[in-house]
Amino acid sequence: MPATGDVDLEAFRAEAHRFVDWMTRYLAENERLPVLSRARPGEVRSALPAVPPTRAEPLGDFLADVERVIVPGITHWNHPSFFAYFANSATAPGILGEILSAAFNSNAMLWKTSPAATELELVVLDWLRQMLGLPEGLFGVIQDTASTSTLVALAAAREAVPGLDARRRGLVGQARLRMYASEHAHSSVEKAGIVLGIGQDGFRAIPADDAFRMDAAALARAIAEDRAAGFTPFAVTATAGTTSTTSIDPIPAIADVCERERLWLHVDAAYGGGARLSKRDAGRVADLDCADSVTIDPHKWFFQTCDIGGLLVKRREDLPATFHREPEYYRSSEPESEPLHWYQYSIEGTRRFRALKLWLSWKHLGTEGLGRFIEANDDLAAYLARRCREADDLETVPPVPELSVVCFRHLPGGRAAASALDPQVLDRYQDRLQRALEVSGEGWVSTTRLRGRTYLRAGVVNYLSTEKDVDQILDALRRLSPGALREATL
Ligand code: PLP
Repeated sequence: MPATGDVDLEAFRAEAHRFVDWMTRYLAENERLPVLSRARPGEVRSALPAVPPTRAEPLGDFLADVERVIVPGITHWNHPSFFAYFANSATAPGILGEILSAAFNSNAMLWKTSPAATELELVVLDWLRQMLGLPEGLFGVIQDTASTSTLVALAAAREAVPGLDARRRGLVGQARLRMYASEHAHSSVEKAGIVLGIGQDGFRAIPADDAFRMDAAALARAIAEDRAAGFTPFAVTATAGTTSTTSIDPIPAIADVCERERLWLHVDAAYGGGARLSKRDAGRVADLDCADSVTIDPHKWFFQTCDIGGLLVKRREDLPATFHREPEYYRSSEPESEPLHWYQYSIEGTRRFRALKLWLSWKHLGTEGLGRFIEANDDLAAYLARRCREADDLETVPPVPELSVVCFRHLPGGRAAASALDPQVLDRYQDRLQRALEVSGEGWVSTTRLRGRTYLRAGVVNYLSTEKDVDQILDALRRLSPGALREATL
């Protein structure tokens, strides 16, 4: 067989088989590994040479190195007991899509640099549009992450401010812009403000109600105050599924404010958008059609490998109005009418063929299969919340999760004993307990702060997780409780 230039193709074929066999074993067995890597900071680095290799090494030795150096430093995101953050549990066709896209090494930058990548992206984004319940005509572009998607949306919102022309003139000496999101919005919204020159002072966090949802009346008041103080409000980000509690902002009420005030409404459905895959649970994430733009992150609750983010905008032309450039080196000789050049719609030039894995896994599972995963996750979160409500040594907030995240606390010795503890000790205890669980390798939850108190946070987004995994985590927390309490009271 001809050589690829770096390796004989027969050797490549043999090695690829070994890699796939290895991956299959890993996927079958990773459940038995500690969820969180036990590597200490610097450990992986110190096992690697400080200078690049001068001499070639045989490909056949690489898996041994991977096992020796890399695997101990891997935190297993696919592990069924991974309940921290939002796990991006990968489906088999998604993994195969990643492999194939590496082999194609396609770059969906210009239409002709990969017509299939360009057009498949159009198709899967339109599928996402339909699944999100958005009207025909909304236009999408794939991003690496939700953070970039929100950044791109807010860049378009900034460009839509009448008379500003920030793209040409920048912001120096111009109107002081203001944008809004709930106090529970993801930090990527504020970060977008930093990147866009709006600054942290240009971001205003709006208080939430008792259910952690943005207070639309407080939003309206904040906008009026800001106008009176000389700011130019321009955008609101509502969240459909916040990171800490999965609360869903009141999108219609926020949309009314935006319409009245002529502000761009962006909806961050990075996680919550996945609920739309299930016929049964789609109604929990409704009214996305009020938005000017929507972020959805298939690498969250859509069971895709990291990374793939999606952005949909109401008016396609808003994206090129913000990002369009036509340098000579990208000039295309195809007829004007035909091609779509993705680089003109977003930040990236070179763009991975991310649509491929989404297409393959959607084809393989169908919306029904993916929807069943969503329902199983929602049911498992409800199971955990129920176990918390029924036990004397556990409590949740809010009592019933909107989607598939449960925030809970372990109460050492039960409710009565815990109520005698200093609230700060109880907070510190949750932190120590969370850390003890991490170290045990038996499972992983993260922490968050709600109403000024620390909670354990279990995000149920792995299609492999079952009641057994939830039970194991609760058992482990109880077993680790005495040590964590000792540490918290020291
Ligand atoms: N929006 C929400 C609601 C999130 O929960 C997250 C991450 O957890 C993000 C945005 C950012 O996503 P990404 O890490 O893909 O940038």
